[in-house]
Amino acid sequence: MRDETKCLRSGYKPKNGEPGVMPIVQSTTYVFDTAEEIGELFNFPNAHMYSRFSNPTVDCVEKKIADLECGVAAMCTSSGQMASLMSVLNLCKAGDSIISASAIYGGTVNLFAVTLKKFGIECIFVDQDADEEEIDKKFKENTRLVFGETLANPALSVFDIEKFAKIAHKHGVPLIIDNTFATPVLCKPIEFGADIVVHSTTKYMDGHALQGGGVIVDGGRFDWNNGKFPELVEPDESYHGFVYTEKFGPAAYIGKARMQLMRDLGAYPSANSGFLLNIGLETLAVRMDRYCENAMKVANYLKDHPAIETIRYPGLENDKYHELAKKYLSKGCSGVISIDIKGGRGPAEKFMNALKMACREVHVADIRTCVLHPASMTHRQLTDEQLVAAGINAGMVRLSVGLEHYEDIIEDLEQALAAAVR
Ligand SMILES: *Cc1c(COP(=O)(O)O)cnc(C)c1O
Repeated sequence: MRDETKCLRSGYKPKNGEPGVMPIVQSTTYVFDTAEEIGELFNFPNAHMYSRFSNPTVDCVEKKIADLECGVAAMCTSSGQMASLMSVLNLCKAGDSIISASAIYGGTVNLFAVTLKKFGIECIFVDQDADEEEIDKKFKENTRLVFGETLANPALSVFDIEKFAKIAHKHGVPLIIDNTFATPVLCKPIEFGADIVVHSTTKYMDGHALQGGGVIVDGGRFDWNNGKFPELVEPDESYHGFVYTEKFGPAAYIGKARMQLMRDLGAYPSANSGFLLNIGLETLAVRMDRYCENAMKVANYLKDHPAIETIRYPGLENDKYHELAKKYLSKGCSGVISIDIKGGRGPAEKFMNALKMACREVHVADIRTCVLHPASMTHRQLTDEQLVAAGINAGMVRLSVGLEHYEDIIEDLEQALAAAVR
């Protein structure tokens, strides 16, 4: 099936006489005829047991997202941050290290640099545009994964997935991609060699700014039996000797994430959250098309504007990442544009306050056009050095183009830019 069809038809498959719309199964528990049947579930969890780690409504959404990403299984989480954290904790323990591109979401930089460190896991940041030799040097004996963002928030750099998949695999570790901004409609990292994909579903997938969420997708191709991942191939004593690769086959990674991490940590979405996310997913392919179209028109308007110092949108021909975008984002470059307003922080703040339609909010990928000033808002915890490494300067405004008519969006920007330089 094509994406438009998967968005509507994957996951929930009603049988004769069942509801046409995926129902909300609002129950923490499930009843069984015999104690033996429940016992069997602990040997092989092929039915729902308890809402801390699975639910029938969320399960349908997981199947739909796995299908869209061309993966073998998926697990939803209560936030994008939790998806990123669990994607790492599923492979690392204290004493291990990971390698991450430095141009990633600010919240993830903080999670990796500060919080993971407290867990005893070191994050080594790399410049994603460095050559293979340079990146090779960052690997250590204890490195367990490589992490990058398809289209970085808010730097809008495009990640060379094939290059990093090759390097990661040479070192016997998987590549994890945060595909939030691209969505599987614009890029399927697994098809380019990535092993695991994570999302903040809070963004385009939910699409309507209704609720937070995250998801981890298992590509199902990585060979865990190379000596570096004993927890996946040896008996888990916390789960009566269960061997994940034996029980779950290609979906071992998600099987372990659910039956060990989610069981212990319990950051699982509610059935109602799954229901709402599914409504967003149903129109994802159609919406992404229009986001790309509107953003391209807005970028073309902004690119020669005298109040703008620089514009970043990989869809523009002279953008640094245009060549990579042609390969990885051939259908479009999503809806986010970043601009540096001439004069830096002061004019950027004036611009922000002069907007009449675009919403000032701590969000991105809303269905409504919205703006954010990273240096004073989302990224204020980063040092100046980290800001530069994440591709941000003080006058940068992140513009998330919505689905209003593009002429209304451009008119609003026009009057706010005039106010910024006044
Ligand atoms: C927002 C975002 C996250 C974090 O997701 P939450 O749902 O806010 O926890 C992670 N990665 C990217 C690229 C994001 O944009």
